[in-house]
Amino acid sequence: MNDRVVGFVLSQSDYRDADVLMQVLCKDYGLLSLIGRSAKKITSKNHCLPMCRYEFIIDYKDNKTIYTIHNQKLLDNYFEDKDIVMMSFKNVLAELVLKNREMDLYDDLQFVFEKLNKENMYLLGSLFVSSIIRRFGITPMVDGCVICGNKKVAALSNRHGGFLCLDHLGGEPVEDVETLKKFRLINKARFENYEAIKDFTYDFRNFDQLMSFFLDNSDLRLRSYDFYKTLV
Ligand SMILES: [Zn+2]
Repeated sequence: MNDRVVGFVLSQSDYRDADVLMQVLCKDYGLLSLIGRSAKKITSKNHCLPMCRYEFIIDYKDNKTIYTIHNQKLLDNYFEDKDIVMMSFKNVLAELVLKNREMDLYDDLQFVFEKLNKENMYLLGSLFVSSIIRRFGITPMVDGCVICGNKKVAALSNRHGGFLCLDHLGGEPVEDVETLKKFRLINKARFENYEAIKDFTYDFRNFDQLMSFFLDNSDLRLRSYDFYKTLV
């Protein structure tokens, strides 16, 4: 009875009457479905803002998958009411969590959300995606050409799963050295290394390269990312 769970509200959908069904990424329980009674009305005390971190009171039972919220408290407000690009970027991260339910991504998401508005969003987003790529077991080969091992690499191939040298381009466009170095770095880095890499400039193209690698090799489709790309 009256168990406290802390988590991020990643999505909301209409439920019975004025209730709202929320997908919440919780610290100790992973993804839970929580019902906010009469939460549809913005004026309701049970109304939640997307992407924010809350403490919820529920009656936790091991075999249940859906819970009614008895009480809630806002802990961290990560909602963007003015910046649609940033809000859409957060939606991409949220959809990544929702599409990879079996992965424990709570600490990663908290790390990124805490820093996203103040520090390099594409570096943080890339670190988040590279962590998922690793857990997925599709880490790219970035120490040399996938085909011959040549350390002098010239291109990235999603299909081959890593770098290619000039002799094995196979139609892939030649990339500049900086871009390939950044791709390598982000696939080697961990969240623990953030202080050491945080001054590297990652832009949308660096992020998109990693995301495309992930999407091509995981067969996932992210509607939120299709939308994000129309904004930038
Ligand atoms: Zn080669």
